[in-house]
Amino acid sequence: MPVSTRPLDRLSDFPAIPEGWAYLDTAATAQKPRPVIDAIARGYGETYATVHRGVYQRSADMTRAYEAGRARAAAFIGAPSADEVVFVRGATEGINLVAHGAFGNGDSPYFLRPGDRIMLSMLEHHSNIVPWQMIAERTGAEIDVAPLTGDGRIDLDAMAGMLTERHRIVALAHVSNVLGSVLDARRAADLAHGVGALLLLDGCQAVPRMPVDVAALGCDFYVFSAHKLYGPTGIGVLWGRSELLAAMPPWQGGGAMIDKVSFDGTSYAPPPGRFEAGTPHIVGVLGLHAAIDYVEAIGLDAIAAHEAALVRETRDALRSVNSVRLHGPEDAAGIVSFTMEGVHPHDIGTILDEGKVAIRAGHHCAQPLMAHLGIDATARASFGVYNGRRDVEALARGLERVSRIFG
Ligand code: PMP
Repeated sequence: MPVSTRPLDRLSDFPAIPEGWAYLDTAATAQKPRPVIDAIARGYGETYATVHRGVYQRSADMTRAYEAGRARAAAFIGAPSADEVVFVRGATEGINLVAHGAFGNGDSPYFLRPGDRIMLSMLEHHSNIVPWQMIAERTGAEIDVAPLTGDGRIDLDAMAGMLTERHRIVALAHVSNVLGSVLDARRAADLAHGVGALLLLDGCQAVPRMPVDVAALGCDFYVFSAHKLYGPTGIGVLWGRSELLAAMPPWQGGGAMIDKVSFDGTSYAPPPGRFEAGTPHIVGVLGLHAAIDYVEAIGLDAIAAHEAALVRETRDALRSVNSVRLHGPEDAAGIVSFTMEGVHPHDIGTILDEGKVAIRAGHHCAQPLMAHLGIDATARASFGVYNGRRDVEALARGLERVSRIFG
């Protein structure tokens, strides 16, 4: 079998991918390259100490490394200032922080009133639906759902017709975790701002596969998880424009987020510290820093081109397999969802696993999208820098076998 000769086929950097295993579940979580593993091992095994508190040298050094991670994350997404980067557990926590802290808290100038509206889309991950439902229930705000185009993009023309002066927040996936469709984020920002609403982008599936510049996109909040970007779990980024973060009350209380505490009253630290109560995921930030260094050394443009080629090859290969139906647009970013007539996606996943091909099968935390597509699950192949044509071929061979087994 021909082995990919693409320069970007970085399999050898990933010790947890054994030879002959086609890992096609990067949209769920990415495998970790050696430099990220090494950074985490060094953080715990050589340089470990707490941050922001110790008066001793080790702690001061670790504080510098931690804050260097913040500056790195800011530069990575084009944020004007490191102070606009809040470390959170992941995208889920970042969205909850914005929903509860900015829109669901009576001390916030963005607190929603009964009759205010929230705009989401039909393809959102549950992480970008449920927090807003909780806030809507608490405040009396209403949720609108932007429809999709026939090929699975958020229909911005339709959204433009739905937006009103009552909309306060538009929250959309930059890239769909199911369909791989890429949002025209700049246009979404213009539409949101045109009615005076803010735009939050869920960048979970975008940052691992394309260059992101929040200033150029014109959004107001951006969230992503490190573990989908070849970094560790338990750490992610909420970026918010400085004036928005400055106006937001704290979400959780505790150590590190205060200015002064007394039983007569407590004052809070400025952002980003105000939103980072408790001892943070110190080594997670070191891992995230290493992950950003890793992808930037390869180049996000190169990664985008590599994954676009794999998506094209996959869609072409799957078209010739009996009864496969492809979902999502032809130019999807790094993700291909499909179904097979008469075969449950879980059976597809199980049979593929027997042939050492790992895909995700299920609703992908996007049940409203499944309902919209009239199915309850898809099979999903998603790509990373370690994948090559051999993985596409292994997937296609596995699906031929599924097709034979199910007649
Ligand atoms: N949004 C999207 C588009 C995602 O793909 C995911 C992860 N599947 C999330 C949000 C949630 O990310 P996490 O579980 O890391 O918080």
